[in-house]
Amino acid sequence: MPIPTRAAGLDALDDFVPRAGRAYARDRNLDLGLGPSRSNVSGLSPYLRHRLLTEQEVVGAVLDEHTLGAAEKFVQEVFWRTYWKGWLEQNPEVWRRYRLEVLDLLAGELPAGYEAAVAGRTGIDAMDAWVRELVDTGYLHNHTRMWFASIWVFTLGLPWQLGADFFYRHLLDGDAASNTLSWRWVAGLQTKGKTYLATASNISRFTDGRFSPSGLATTARALDEEPFPSRTPLEPDDVAGVVGDRAGLLLHEEDLEATSLLAEQPGLLGDVAAAAVAADPGDRSPAGVSDAVAYFTSAALEDAAERTRDASGRAAQVLTDAEPDSVVSWVLAEGLDTVVVPYAPIGPVHERLATLRPALASEGIAFVTVRRRWDSVAWPHASRGFFPFREKIPALVRQL
Ligand SMILES: Cc1cc2nc3c(=O)[nH]c(=O)nc-3n(C[C@H](O)[C@H](O)[C@H](O)COP(=O)(O)OP(=O)(O)OC[C@H]3O[C@@H](n4cnc5c(N)ncnc54)[C@H](O)[C@@H]3O)c2cc1C
Repeated sequence: MPIPTRAAGLDALDDFVPRAGRAYARDRNLDLGLGPSRSNVSGLSPYLRHRLLTEQEVVGAVLDEHTLGAAEKFVQEVFWRTYWKGWLEQNPEVWRRYRLEVLDLLAGELPAGYEAAVAGRTGIDAMDAWVRELVDTGYLHNHTRMWFASIWVFTLGLPWQLGADFFYRHLLDGDAASNTLSWRWVAGLQTKGKTYLATASNISRFTDGRFSPSGLATTARALDEEPFPSRTPLEPDDVAGVVGDRAGLLLHEEDLEATSLLAEQPGLLGDVAAAAVAADPGDRSPAGVSDAVAYFTSAALEDAAERTRDASGRAAQVLTDAEPDSVVSWVLAEGLDTVVVPYAPIGPVHERLATLRPALASEGIAFVTVRRRWDSVAWPHASRGFFPFREKIPALVRQL
C-alpha cells in the first residue's frame, strides 16, 4: 500500500516525473501486473484523491521536466479527474440518483451472480484475479478498471451501480466523480449510446498474455435511464461566507493540504485560531469501506494534522468522528465564531458538510468554504464532453 503521507506522495512524484513524458504515452495502457512493471503509470491517485498532493503541483513538477507536447498524455489524464469533478458538480442529480439506487439495490434481494462476483468466484479467471487484486491492494490499473466494468455490465449482466459501489468501497483513490462517471461511461449512459466492450484479444494484448478470458459478451448495448434535470450553475465565488474574528480551520478527506489552499487567499484568515481534521470514509457506501481504505484515510488524516498548525503552533486536532456534534463540540471548546473548510465537491463529504452547516448556524457559528483556483478555473469548461474540455487544457495549464 502507498504510504499515506504527503512526504511519501512527494517522493513518489519525484520518482515518477522522469517517466511522465513519451514513455508514459507509449506504455500507460499496459497492465503487466503488480511489481516493477507498474512503473508505467504514476500510482499517484490515492495522493491526488485526498489532495495530499494537488493537481497543480503534480502537473507543475511534470512540466518542469518535460514540454507539454511530451507530457501531453499524462497532463490530460490528470485533467480527466478535474473534468469528471467539474461535470458532476454541474449535474449533482446524477450522484443523488446513484446514491439512492445503491441504497435500494443493497437493501433488496441481491441480483443473482453478485455475491459470486464480489467474492472472486465468477469462473472468469481475469475477473476473479482482479477482484483479489482490488481487495488486497486497493488499486486496479485504469485499463483493467475498464475491462472489469465492461465484463460486470455486459457479460455478467449485473447493475452498474453495484459495480461502482464495490470499486468505491475498495479503491484507495475511490472518488465520487471519477468512479461513478467512469462506470456510467462504460455502460453507455455518460456519452449517450457509446459503450465500452472488453474483448479477450485486447485484454490479452495489454496484459501481455496474462489473461485471455473466454465467454465474454460480444455486444454491448447501451443502458437506458430516465433523463436528468438540466445543468446546475456552479457557485460563482471561490470563497462562500464571511469569516469572523476567531476562525478555525477544519480539513476533511477531500483536501488535506492547507498551506497551498490558504496561500491562494491571502488575508482571508488573519490567524488560524484552531485547526482540526475529520473524516468518515464509511460515508462512501451503505456497506462501508474496506479496512485498507479506512486505514489509508485515517493515516492521511494524522499526517495532515501534524502538518497543519494553528497560530500558536498547535497541531490540528484529529476529531474522533466527522459527525456535526463532534465538530460543534470542538468549535465551542475553542471559542470559535467561524469554521473554514476546503470546498468539498459533490460526493459524501459534500453531503456531510450540508448537515454540518445548520448545526453550526444553530450555535451562531459562521461556515465558510474555500474552493481552489484550479477547480474554479477549470470546472466551468466541464459542461459538455471531454473533447471540448481537452482543447482548453493548454490554456488552462498556462493560466494555472
Ligand atoms: C470504471 C472506472 C472507475 C474509476 N474509478 C476511479 C476512482 O474512483 N478514483 C480515481 O481517481 N480514478 C478512477 N478511475 C480513473 C483511473 O482508472 C485512475 O485514476 C487511475 O487508474 C489511477 O492510477 P494512476 O495514479 O497510476 O494513474 P496515472 O495513469 O498515472 O494518471 C495520473 C493521474 O491522473 C488521474 N487519472 C488518470 N486516468 C484517469 C481517468 N480515466 N479518469 C479520471 N482521472 C484519471 C488520476 O488522478 C491519476 O492519479 C476509474 C476509471 C474507471 C474506468
